[in-house]
Amino acid sequence: MICYLYPEPSYLFFTTGIPELLYYSHIPTAIFAILIGLYVFLNAKKSLLNKLLFLITLIFSLWTFFNLFAWTNINGNFILFIWPYFGILSALLSILSIYFVYVFINQKDISFRLKIVFFTLLAPLFIFAHTNLNLSGFNITYCDPYGFEGIVYKYYYIFVSVLSLIWIPILLIKKYLISDINLRKQIILLGTGVELFLLTFFLATFVASYFSGIGVLGDSRIELYGLFGVLIFIGFIGVLITKFKTFRVGIIASQGLLVSLVILISSQFTYSDSQTATVLTSITLIFTGAIGIILVRSVKKEIRQRQEIESLATKLEKVNVRLKQLDKLKSEFVSIASHQLRSPLTSIAGYASLLREGNFGVLPAKMKEPIDRIERSARFMAESIEDYLNVSRIESGNMKYHLTDFNLRDETEKLCNDLRSQALRKGLILLFRTDMTAKGFVNADLGKIQQVIHNLINNAIKYSQRGSVTVYVKDDIKKRVINVEIIDTGIGMSQSTLHSIFQKFERGDEANTVNVAGTGLGLYVAQKMAEAMGGNISAHSEGEGKGSRFVLALPMVM
Ligand code: ADP
Repeated sequence: MICYLYPEPSYLFFTTGIPELLYYSHIPTAIFAILIGLYVFLNAKKSLLNKLLFLITLIFSLWTFFNLFAWTNINGNFILFIWPYFGILSALLSILSIYFVYVFINQKDISFRLKIVFFTLLAPLFIFAHTNLNLSGFNITYCDPYGFEGIVYKYYYIFVSVLSLIWIPILLIKKYLISDINLRKQIILLGTGVELFLLTFFLATFVASYFSGIGVLGDSRIELYGLFGVLIFIGFIGVLITKFKTFRVGIIASQGLLVSLVILISSQFTYSDSQTATVLTSITLIFTGAIGIILVRSVKKEIRQRQEIESLATKLEKVNVRLKQLDKLKSEFVSIASHQLRSPLTSIAGYASLLREGNFGVLPAKMKEPIDRIERSARFMAESIEDYLNVSRIESGNMKYHLTDFNLRDETEKLCNDLRSQALRKGLILLFRTDMTAKGFVNADLGKIQQVIHNLINNAIKYSQRGSVTVYVKDDIKKRVINVEIIDTGIGMSQSTLHSIFQKFERGDEANTVNVAGTGLGLYVAQKMAEAMGGNISAHSEGEGKGSRFVLALPMVM
């Protein structure tokens, strides 16, 4: 308080004869704080954490400017007007800091109950701010308002400050104990930052007003030092912004902020007329520079990572295009090759069969076996080619289905009759059983269903050395499905075989041991076809040597 003993200030607060540190402690700190607050807020306007930080810096700056007026002004009325706000603003700072820490910890707004508590704590300060309980007068003979401050009011807002100093660390320690290492680092930075800020601020203002009030100190210039606490706080916030992205601020934008801060602080040199101010400006500059180095490093890292990702993405795109071309070529090749191979093979098998049956005259006995082999091999090759063709059609999405209603039970019986002689040749009995409640109609592609069932019975014959193959058709009215079960007494399957047989080119280990030729494509194709018609195939076995059971389930037509 300079009051009338000093020259009247120009522009509200510029005057001579005041403590030399005053302008330095007030103007840059307030601008510094509010700039960071505003900047963080503008970068993510919806984030509550950012909003609260902005509010804290705003209130801090307001307090600082009011304090500057109180120091430099000589107008008693004006000082009486702003004085009551010190209590309100400092209590608001405390409560908002607690609020801020809550939001930082929980990543969400506080409960309504807690808001009521905060409001109740603040209410008396607002209500009694402009009454005698707060400030009752002003002594213009030696310009002292301290003697006229109400003790109860004053101790109440000091109590709120102390409360926040205790409340915040408790909250942070509790969270710290259950956090991972990354969050722990953030908690330490934020916790220390907030605590140091509040502590220096309250301690310095309290000591200043208390000791100058009781006459121990000549004036309250000690409070000027309290304001520098905000720089520590802001510094830590800076690290949180750049290193931990706590406030979701973009990296390039942070750089902009840094440059403006360095300019702002450097501009202090122009009006720092004392050694103390020059030293302090230099310290602040070093301090900001240190944050800057962290910032620039992290920017570089981020840019490098982005470039790497971009170049990988372009490479990936090229490879992808190439893969697609290759895939198309492969499909074309498969389909052309298969068509051209299949027709001659079918005719080889056909002629072999005619020869075997004596259509070209009686066959010498020793020719039977070789002709048989020719026919079997040609058929196997034709079937394999058919499998490849089907795989290529399925994968290119070119498989066409012509759905009609037909009797699944009857069609299965016909297939059994066709395959019975093949089973008998291997010494196997092929049985057909039914247990039907409804008529047994399904809506599917008849040719494809025949192919699927043929494949399953064929496998049962292929993988059984002795015993029987039972084909069992039954319906389940409740589930609205018809099941075609193919049960054999063959080589069976282990759990691992059961898991893989529906995948492309997968053959069970058991199949290799019995030396049965195959492509490993039949079940893959059959399953895809069944699924395309709304059904599915499941495989079951008790284990190796214990036979197998395959079930084709198709939705029934009611
Ligand atoms: P492929 O029979 O040409 O090898 P599939 O896709 O038809 O190909 O069958 C895949 C595998 O499933 C077979 O190799 C065999 O290991 C197993 N498998 C299929 N049916 C049976 C069955 N009835 N009994 C035992 N294993 C079978």
